[in-house]
Amino acid sequence: MKTVKDYIRTIVDFPHEGILFRDVTTLFADPRGMRLAIDQLLDPYVGQRIDKVVGLEARGFIIGGAIAHQLSIGFVPIRKKGKLPGAVISEEYKLEYGEAVVEVHDDAIQPGEKILVVDDLLATGGTAEAGNKLVERLGGEIVGCAFIIDLPDIGGRKRLEDLGYDIHALCQFE
Ligand code: IMP
Repeated sequence: MKTVKDYIRTIVDFPHEGILFRDVTTLFADPRGMRLAIDQLLDPYVGQRIDKVVGLEARGFIIGGAIAHQLSIGFVPIRKKGKLPGAVISEEYKLEYGEAVVEVHDDAIQPGEKILVVDDLLATGGTAEAGNKLVERLGGEIVGCAFIIDLPDIGGRKRLEDLGYDIHALCQFE
């Protein structure tokens, strides 16, 4: 039987020369792959209270929407700067070259809500850390952070675990 990892395609030299881009669109496009990924992302949280799922732009929206539907809970997007129409709070974080800003609507999460944060891939952990800060600034309590792919050599998992977050990933690429 195929595993989640088997459905993920690698594109060489995207978006820059020397980068191996792990492409989850082939996983999402396959009906078995999509179901397998969503089921496995949720598996550790069965029986736990989750009030909302937060997805990180952009592939976290696809995963987060499916999870929200499965659990009959709400979905909250964390977006890049300038994309959300209402009042937002922002967090800046470092990229390999330069900085980026992520935002969330300031009324999207209520204090004490239990939050699952999801994205397709964990590399340095910078995006997820900034997203987690936004959730916590609104009073949300992070139950866990779930990813399809972990790149352990880059160290994001350790970085987030050292901050006290519970990390769940379905597969790893060296
Ligand atoms: P980090 O902030 O360094 O952990 O990078 C994670 C973010 O970059 C996620 O939002 C990913 O969607 C994106 N990302 C980085 N590398 C890849 C890749 O190879 N495939 C898909 N997304 C990637």
